[in-house]
Amino acid sequence: MRAFIVAALGCALVPTTGYPREKEMLLQATEQTALSWVKPAGEKVVKELVAKYGEGQRARAERGVHQISDFWRADDGDAAAYVEFAEANFAGHQATLDTMFNRFQALIEQLNGHMHEINREFRQQADLDAGPIYPFDEVFAGYDPAAHIIDDFFNNKLAFVVLLNFPLTTLQERLAEGTKWTRRQWAEARLAEMFSKRIPASVNLEVARASSEADSYISQYNIWMHHITEPGGQRLFPAKLRLLSHWNLRDEIKADYADTQHGLAKQRAIQQVMERIITQTIPQVVIDNPQVDWNPWTNEVKPAAEKDSEQAAPANLAVTNASEPATRYAMLSLTYRAEKQVDPYSPMAPTLIARRFDEDREIPEQRVRAMLEQVLTSPLVPQVAKLIEGRIGRPLEPFDIWYDGFRARGAYTEAQLDAIVAKKYPTAEAYRKDIPNILEKLGFTPEKAQYLADHIAVDPARGSGHAMGAAMRGEKAHLRTRVEPTGMNYKGFNIAVHEMGHNVEQTFSLNEVDYTLLAGVPNTAFTEALAMVLQGHDLEILGLAAPSAESEALKTLNDFWATYEISGVALVDMGVWHWMYDHPQHTAEQLRDATVTIAKDIWNRYYAPVFGKKDVVLLGVYSHMIDSILYLPDYPIGHLIAFQVEEQMKKAGAIGPEFERMAKMGDVTPDLWMINATGKPVGADALLDAAKVALAQVQQH
Ligand SMILES: [Zn+2]
Repeated sequence: MRAFIVAALGCALVPTTGYPREKEMLLQATEQTALSWVKPAGEKVVKELVAKYGEGQRARAERGVHQISDFWRADDGDAAAYVEFAEANFAGHQATLDTMFNRFQALIEQLNGHMHEINREFRQQADLDAGPIYPFDEVFAGYDPAAHIIDDFFNNKLAFVVLLNFPLTTLQERLAEGTKWTRRQWAEARLAEMFSKRIPASVNLEVARASSEADSYISQYNIWMHHITEPGGQRLFPAKLRLLSHWNLRDEIKADYADTQHGLAKQRAIQQVMERIITQTIPQVVIDNPQVDWNPWTNEVKPAAEKDSEQAAPANLAVTNASEPATRYAMLSLTYRAEKQVDPYSPMAPTLIARRFDEDREIPEQRVRAMLEQVLTSPLVPQVAKLIEGRIGRPLEPFDIWYDGFRARGAYTEAQLDAIVAKKYPTAEAYRKDIPNILEKLGFTPEKAQYLADHIAVDPARGSGHAMGAAMRGEKAHLRTRVEPTGMNYKGFNIAVHEMGHNVEQTFSLNEVDYTLLAGVPNTAFTEALAMVLQGHDLEILGLAAPSAESEALKTLNDFWATYEISGVALVDMGVWHWMYDHPQHTAEQLRDATVTIAKDIWNRYYAPVFGKKDVVLLGVYSHMIDSILYLPDYPIGHLIAFQVEEQMKKAGAIGPEFERMAKMGDVTPDLWMINATGKPVGADALLDAAKVALAQVQQH
């Protein structure tokens, strides 16, 4: 499945991709039946192919026949049709195989490229700052012309041509042998991978339904903060403040460090709210409801004594503190049951856990676990914790996993920067014209800078901005940037530089990679790391002084602490998926209890010694756990990768040539990409080394 989506990936902000869920939804097919004739027919085919092409083709013939047999169904044809297909489509001579490979590569690039063009055009009204969006615009934006390609390719048997001739590989094989493969072998592996699953339409429908139910549950999970009351009855939060769990709740905790008067009380209240969501002791009636007041300590609920919303009270509103009935876990369980139905149709990765780690991330789960544990058990953790205690002037409390105070005051105020940027870039066109100049400042040669500028189109974004790469050569990458009527502001500029970093990566990794089947990067963490490198130099682009060493050190400590926090969250997510696979018949209540136990265990092992408090459940609060299916481990891995890339850039000096060298490696395994880029596989050392240096530097001040 890689090539159909990878080329379009750019940024978490790119609206067309929807990783990881839509990957599954691209696949459609019919019901599977076991066919008794397949084995003898396959043996007959191998015999005849060896007779025709010689003993040297036996291994290829056996592999190909085995691969098509795994996916062949009754409605694909009977034994005679199967034999006829295999004999007609096996490429027994190298020259035929080369032709087949080249033609598939070229045509798949065209297919991807044009599908992506349609997608981009259909989304135009939704994505660009171009006037009102009508209901039909939304339908265009939501339509995916590529949705049935895999199904079509199995039906017209092009998928079987690939499976008959090119090898499906396991992650173990790609890791163990991939370092010795030629680039062509890598491209062949990626070609075959596109057809490693044939999932029945009914199963895809179940996955889509579960995922949309979970999305809708999470997207309405608001807490009306003005209605949170303290034990003394006071209200800490302003009227109308409605926070979506968990994102807004967590970000409010972060923002509250700046509120010296009520910040601490607010943070404690939010922790209380979060814990009740995780344990599902939250009263059902307080969810997204401004009609009741709630004391989250005693769990007492009353009709709202203050009105701060026009939202009508639900009919027959019963003001009781009856708990939410484990709905959070019923949603997760629904997702699990749907994903489990995919398992039999995914022979190379027969569990959701394997699909996430072996196929999407391509880093074995045990290695990911080991990297996270390396961060969690680092001796730097208690030292940074001490530093935080010094800065906040009190012992740590559990919500301080979201400590947000490692911020340096910049040399310029936001208003000064806004003025500088608005003058320089009054329009998106002004920014576009300056791209070659910007890239030269970042160390690209004048020729490369112009080449890149020629491959990047700049459009006015409706939202904050995003990058949309091309999916075939000759097409431009699109930089979507926001420009106010008064000119670009600093925030918009900072985002534009980040998105332009994606466009530069997209341009190199599509146009300079040796095989378009390898276009792209291993996963989103890599393109994010490269984009952040450019973003980190935004002040120099403006001709201002680079951030001071101290502010860089604080930023490093901020990233270190965030990685420490999210590593535990990721381990909870992983633990819960293992528990579900180990207990396939579980109820929502059992899943709730198991999640609480897993969250406490991880806390007790890696956080309790630092925070001096046991049995905290907070690590289970992330909404991604419910609606994004084992996505959370990508966050800590992303931090580690960013530090490795950044460290290599510093070592190399000039960004331009190094960026290009890294980006044109293409979509191989993360470890192979990173070894090519930095000499080492993906790991935690770069982050920990940088944090150590940063800690020493900050302690000196
Ligand atoms: Zn990005």
